[in-house]
Amino acid sequence: MTTDQTATPTLDHWIAGALTAGASERTAPVYDPALGEVTKHVRLGSTADVDTAVAAARAAYAGVDGKGGWGRSSIAKRQTVMFKFRELLDGRRDELAAILTSEHGKVLSDAAGEVARGIEVVEFACAMPQLAKGAYSQSVSTDVDVYSVKEPLGVVGIISPFNFPAMVPMWFFPIAIATGNTVVLKPSEKDPSVANWLAALLTEAGLPDGVFNVLHGDKEAVDGLLEHPDVASISFVGSTPIAQYVYEKGTAAGKRVQALGGAKNHMLVLPDADLDLVADSAVNAGFGSAGERCMAISVVLAVDPVGDELVDKIRDRMGKLVTGDGRGGADMGPLITREHRDKVAGYLDVATADGASVVVDGRGVVADGAADGFWLGPSLVDHVGTTSTVYTDEIFGPVLSIVRVASYAEGLALINGGPYGNGTAIFTNDGGAARRFQQDVEVGMVGINVPIPVPVAYHSFGGWKASLFGDAKAYGPSGVDFFTREKAITSRWLDPSQTSSGLNLGFPQNE
Ligand code: NAD
Repeated sequence: MTTDQTATPTLDHWIAGALTAGASERTAPVYDPALGEVTKHVRLGSTADVDTAVAAARAAYAGVDGKGGWGRSSIAKRQTVMFKFRELLDGRRDELAAILTSEHGKVLSDAAGEVARGIEVVEFACAMPQLAKGAYSQSVSTDVDVYSVKEPLGVVGIISPFNFPAMVPMWFFPIAIATGNTVVLKPSEKDPSVANWLAALLTEAGLPDGVFNVLHGDKEAVDGLLEHPDVASISFVGSTPIAQYVYEKGTAAGKRVQALGGAKNHMLVLPDADLDLVADSAVNAGFGSAGERCMAISVVLAVDPVGDELVDKIRDRMGKLVTGDGRGGADMGPLITREHRDKVAGYLDVATADGASVVVDGRGVVADGAADGFWLGPSLVDHVGTTSTVYTDEIFGPVLSIVRVASYAEGLALINGGPYGNGTAIFTNDGGAARRFQQDVEVGMVGINVPIPVPVAYHSFGGWKASLFGDAKAYGPSGVDFFTREKAITSRWLDPSQTSSGLNLGFPQNE
């Protein structure tokens, strides 16, 4: 394995429509997780690089003497770029999915699904002329009309996690750009190439230079964006501690912030559920993308007496899964880094120490791939106690926990008692029970016989509690609101036959 930087290419920032090395000397290695090898290094931007990226975005927003900037560009121009971008993306889905798999590790079919869900938001943004329409009230008073328009914020910052390097940035930037903002994206340093690829494609689609910029980096770049006076808003997705930090620091600096955090998603299985559907769903949602999804199911709450039968069904299905290189037809790929793999695997020791039973131990898996890949096979832990860190931590890997509960009420109390509120699902054939759950549960996204209830692009995505700081969800109507600010104009045009009604120092009233 090589860590020699001179032996690998270095990924530059994309600022003002061109690649640039920037001022910082710092870099980080980027791995192919299925090979366990460093394939490139990525630049880690400094505060000076943040200044350069934000200045480029600011210039593209403002234009010269108030003219030619993206902020004042016509709706037609923005829509034309979005349609073209969608067309280009659609034709090159496979290329994007392949880049994604080579740095993230998720299997190609899963990467293709990620790309498809990102394209959904681009398609939503193509409808911005309709979505961002204002409102008009004629004759609110004599000769007076009031209208509200939605204007862009200016330069917006997007900070994204490693687990969806294409989809999560696409939750935000199509809407930001279509509403007239300019963007600085700070992608995860673990799988950064997708961001540059998207930037080049936006340029090909006709987006003017500087409207979309990619600044690579780590905490220094994030802090630079949070502190920069010309950055109007921050859209963050990542772990809860960093989401909270970003929210507090960003809002303290006067910015609009939406910060989506971590999760621990529970699937509640009632005794009348179709257990084959439940087992398929638990395996798909627990081990897809090696469990590195914020909407992964990590806990199955089995209401008595279905536990034993369900565990058997899940174990049988797990036996059929192939773990290996995502380019080679495996069902599940590697984890993102060696350190993360070791941390996740460590929870299997914790499970044993805490009295749970490890039904399937993924540490023994022989992966269909290179020996140095960051492998951990699908793992199943039964009888997990709710005080164990296996239950309380967001493990973010292929470890599925089964918790036995005596009743619907006990399961619901566990879900509502946890710190997160991202996603959850109930499996039942009782419509009344499902409807009751929908209302009882304190979680932002709920599935009924659907294990990963990620809303479509025209409904907004976001959890409750420690899964989302701020009050704006991602994409959908909430996304349009987040990236625009409303201006209300009250206008009086006298009829040509009338004259001014004279002095009156009283507060204006409508008549
Ligand atoms: P992370 O919090 O480590 O990193 C997210 C971003 O923050 C990255 O761009 C990273 O460079 C930056 N960052 C990391 N440490 C920082 C620090 N100390 N100060 C400032 N910035 C910092 O998250 P990750 O490991 O990349 O992603 C996995 C996490 O993201 C999981 O917790 C997962 O649940 C969460 N996630 C949530 C959602 C959601 O919609 N709620 C979606 C995807 C992922």
